[in-house]
Order: sequence, then C-alpha cells, then structure tokens
Amino acid sequence: MIQTLYLVPEYKEEQIYPAICKSMDALSIKKDMHPDLKVVIKPNLIMAKKPDLTTTTHPLVIKCVARWLREQGVKNITLAESSGGLYNADYMKNVYQVCGMIDLCEDLSLNMDFSAQTVNTREGFSNHSFHIITPIVEADYIINICKLKTHAMTGYSGGIKNLFGTIPGLEKPQMHYRWTDIESFSRMLLELAQTVNPQLTIIDAIDAMEGNGPTGGTSHPLHMILAAKDFYTQDYFAAKLMKLDPMNIVMIRQAVESGLAKPDEITLAGDEIPDNLTPFQVPDTIKLDFSGKIPAILLPIAKRLLKSYPQLNADLCVGCGKCAESCPAKIITIKKRKAHFKKKGCISCFCCQEMCPMKAISVKKAL
Ligand code: SF4
Ligand code: SF4
Repeated sequence: MIQTLYLVPEYKEEQIYPAICKSMDALSIKKDMHPDLKVVIKPNLIMAKKPDLTTTTHPLVIKCVARWLREQGVKNITLAESSGGLYNADYMKNVYQVCGMIDLCEDLSLNMDFSAQTVNTREGFSNHSFHIITPIVEADYIINICKLKTHAMTGYSGGIKNLFGTIPGLEKPQMHYRWTDIESFSRMLLELAQTVNPQLTIIDAIDAMEGNGPTGGTSHPLHMILAAKDFYTQDYFAAKLMKLDPMNIVMIRQAVESGLAKPDEITLAGDEIPDNLTPFQVPDTIKLDFSGKIPAILLPIAKRLLKSYPQLNADLCVGCGKCAESCPAKIITIKKRKAHFKKKGCISCFCCQEMCPMKAISVKKAL
C-alpha cells in the first residue's frame, strides 16, 4: 500500500494545499474523479469546539481537499458528520458554526439531511446491519478526513474510529451499551469500517491530540498530513508515529490479525519521517490499566478492583447535561446544576468524559 506523508508546519492554505495535491498524485486519485461524482467528506466534528483546540478536523484541511476536488471538475461535494450529541438541524448548525465549517459553504454543501438508513453487512459479520447516516449511504466516493488523537476507551483515534461518526447521534451510546468490552467494541468498529468503506482517508496531524482524548487532551503537533487508500494499515503507521505500540491498540491489532492491515506492505511516498518525534501521553484510562501485568488466574478479580470510573470535579461542572445525554447506561442525573453519577451499572465507556465541554470528568479506579 502507498502511504503518503507530507510535512506541513502550520494551518495555512498555502502550505496545506500543495501537500494535498502531492498526496492525490501519489495515490492516483485523479483517475477516479468525474464531474457527476457525488463525493462526501466525513470529518471528525465530535463536538462543537473551535478549530485551534485540536479536537476536530481543521477546516483548512477540508477546504484544500474541496478545492482540489473542484479543480478536477467535481461539483457535488457534501460534508457529512454525526457528532457526539443529537443528530438534528439545530445541534449540527451549532457544530458547523463553532468548528469553522460555515466558512466552507462556498467550497461544499454542509449536510442538512438528518435521516439514516439500514445497511446490511457482509455475510459472516456478527453485526447483520448498521444504521448509517443517509449522505454516507448515498455517496459515490467517501473521503474520510480524521484528526489524529489518543482516545480514552480505544487508546487511539484515526481512520477506523472516525467512521463511528457515521452512526446517527445518540445511537452511538446505545452501541457502547451493546458492545461493552473493548474486544467486541473494536470488532464492531472494524465491521462498520468495512461497511462504510471510504475510498480515501486523510489524517490531519498538523496538530494532534495527546492525553485524555478524544476531547479533553492537549496539543501534540506532528506537522504532517497523511493519506492512504488503505486506512487500516495507515492507522498502524500513524500509531507508530505517536510512539504507541499499534499491537496494544485493540482495533489495530484485530485489523492486523484479520489481514485488513498489512504493516509489511507500506511504501512511503513524500517526505521522510522526522527523527525528532516524541511519545504521545496516553489517556488516564490507559495509564491506569495494569491488567496486562496481572497473572491470568487473578484477572477476573483484578479487573473488578481495577475497573475505571468517571469522577466529577464539581467545581468545573456547569450542569449542562451533555454527559447524561450521552451515557448509554443512563446512570447520570443532573441535580442542582451538577452531574451525579451512580457507580452501579457504569460500563466505563467514558462517553461522558468525551462529551463534557468543561473537562469536569476525570478517571478514578475502584480500588
Ligand atoms: S460533567 Fe460536564 S457534561 Fe456533565 S453536566 Fe457537568 S459540565 Fe456538563
Ligand atoms: S457514567 Fe460515563 S463511563 Fe459510566 S456508563 Fe455512563 S457514560 Fe459510560
């Protein structure tokens, strides 16, 4: 597989656009383009956050991809995303506004069709179907443009994980409730990725997120744009750039074991990998996971004692209710403008931490 890497020092159109053009050339994307093509760009707009906060795909990366598409004669370009909260016009208009997508209206259309369709999966999958947002289902060509981040539950968020945002709104927490352990949740993500099957995946790693991602971490710039058709192998490659062990990221390990990711077949195009890359801080949930160091016989007890739970910093909580809205186990209530968590029933998915706009939720161990 061809993996492109181009160094881009800053979020400036004059720096990003040449990197996009060279990536498209290296991957021979031009030959797939024609004027009648219906192209859908799937960014990461997990929540309404300003572009400089490293949480969402930067609008200038999307603008440069749309500019390249238009220069190939493609007219039908739509940006479609289902963020972490509700999936309706009011909610998404705010997300588009805050994330800087409104500025792209001359380059593409912002999706305003909030329906979804049931798509049957391939034979042999454990999920027989997925409910997927309509623009993705009806696209001729999907460009997945994710942000490189650490992730409290999965450890890493790149091309595969970004496709979870094709599931409409609050159906996502329900899926966390259905696949509560990381092995089955990751298998579901891989089945979803194969069902959506984007033709091209671009990773915005000009600035990336470390620590308590995907929303509560901090900036760790890599100053690069990555692109590949094979997003499974690309995730393996990107995790290595973060100095994470890809085989410790369950979805990437499963992708390698199932033959979807082929790390031995990477051919790098573009710039060389800088030799001064530094390790990404991992999320507290992963930092506090000692289960790999415990003898198998003690593992069931240890897992219970070492289970992670969300912990509220009441001083930071503003009682907005976003955590309660996204909690699949429905164990969060808002009383006197503060969130209250019941420990019983918590599945440690950290959707609450992910959706908290105030970084008011941290991780604590049962023991
Ligand atoms: S914990 Fe965060 S998301 Fe939950 S109510 Fe408080 S501020 Fe809002
Ligand atoms: S309280 Fe938080 S971690 Fe626990 S189930 Fe609800 S969303 Fe998941």
